[in-house]
Amino acid sequence: MDFNDTPQEAAFRVEARTWLAAHAPAHELQPGVTIPDTEEAARGRAWMRELYEGGWSGLTFSKALGGRGLSGAEAVVFSEEEGRYHLPKGPFTSIGTGMALPVIAKHGNDEQRALYVEPTLKGDLTWCQLFSEPAAGSDLAALRTKAVRTDDGSGDWIVNGQKVWSSWAHLTDWGILVVRTDASVPKHKGLTFFVVDMKTPGIETRPIRQISGASEFNETFLTDVRIPDANRIGAVGEGWACCMTVLMGERLGSGAHRSGVEPLLDYAAKTPAAHGGTMLDDRAVRQQLAEALAEEQGERFFQARLRTMVSKGENPGALAGMVKLAYASRYQKVSGLGMELRGLDAIAPEAGDTFTPDLQYDYIYSTVMRIAGGADEVLRNQIAERVLGMPGEVRMDKDVPFEQLK
Ligand SMILES: Cc1cc2nc3c(=O)[nH]c(=O)nc-3n(C[C@H](O)[C@H](O)[C@H](O)COP(=O)(O)OP(=O)(O)OC[C@H]3O[C@@H](n4cnc5c(N)ncnc54)[C@H](O)[C@@H]3O)c2cc1C
Repeated sequence: MDFNDTPQEAAFRVEARTWLAAHAPAHELQPGVTIPDTEEAARGRAWMRELYEGGWSGLTFSKALGGRGLSGAEAVVFSEEEGRYHLPKGPFTSIGTGMALPVIAKHGNDEQRALYVEPTLKGDLTWCQLFSEPAAGSDLAALRTKAVRTDDGSGDWIVNGQKVWSSWAHLTDWGILVVRTDASVPKHKGLTFFVVDMKTPGIETRPIRQISGASEFNETFLTDVRIPDANRIGAVGEGWACCMTVLMGERLGSGAHRSGVEPLLDYAAKTPAAHGGTMLDDRAVRQQLAEALAEEQGERFFQARLRTMVSKGENPGALAGMVKLAYASRYQKVSGLGMELRGLDAIAPEAGDTFTPDLQYDYIYSTVMRIAGGADEVLRNQIAERVLGMPGEVRMDKDVPFEQLK
């Protein structure tokens, strides 16, 4: 197996690197400086526009859809090069490009593709994900938010319910929404998928205040929200298939954005060790960094392989969960290693230290990646059952109409 770029990928890397060197620095965030959410989201849109105008948006989308029709491997190469810069990217950009657009491209109709794809690639439309509910997270199909068709002949739907953990819903334009439209069939079969303008009357987002002081998640309440049938993605009752496409995009997008190990290698190579030489001369440090780098590389190649499958129309299924699992554990391991290398300064950084606050943030934030986009335990179950063919979990509710579940 050859782990180096193919000649085509190498040429693409040079092209990407050259373009980024000319355009990315003006958009970079200052390390260690926190800016208000509104400014971060606005800067995210500006970066999206720059990417679009430079022809770097929607790399794996077909040219007909406004993308470049490139391979998954090339998309990973671009993410790696982009990840060298500290850019305003986050759920306010990635939910649109990595989750909303794949579902609209695959399950939507031409009119919907024309309405949403290009404005999203340009940063004019940003998206949130309205999936999780207080009693439906890992078991998403247990969701209770419901949509009923009006009887006024318009075909519109009236939605009532509550979503939770809706990242950036307070600052995004549209949401991807899954609701129950039929409770008389088993839980996975009665779901329908919509896109919804977040300014629609009846939608209220209440930011959840986190221990860090930030409020990037929301509870989202939907009260008599009227959604036109034209906003329905896919057929009535086929919402679960749409959800799978979204989650595939989320899992395959995990960790594509930057190397966690390279900055640590750099740091260890520049930092003097207590007994002479640099930290990188310490065998134990070298071994840990080498292990982390090897894992990161393995994850990268596996991700490129699965993204290439998707761009060819193939379905990696539960294998996508392996990318997310590998990323979540590597992110935790590498951020923990970063804190160890930094030593006491990791706990009490000197004034003006711009390196450590980002390390501290990563160390704390890395734990959430064990839950977001599918909890580790649930993904392991899926891989065990669907990839390794091990016996399935006992599911008593599988064939029971949702309305009969206790
Ligand atoms: C950073 C972050 C961002 C998020 N953003 C969004 C968003 O934008 N939109 C959105 O809709 N949701 C979002 N979520 C919610 C996320 O999808 C859910 O947190 C996740 O699906 C888990 O659901 P839960 O929190 O209800 O936990 P639960 O499902 O209650 O799980 C709790 C624990 O039980 C374990 N568990 C559950 N079922 C099983 C099982 N069958 N076998 C073994 N163990 C099990 C899990 O592993 C977990 O540790 C976000 C979450 C995080 C952390």
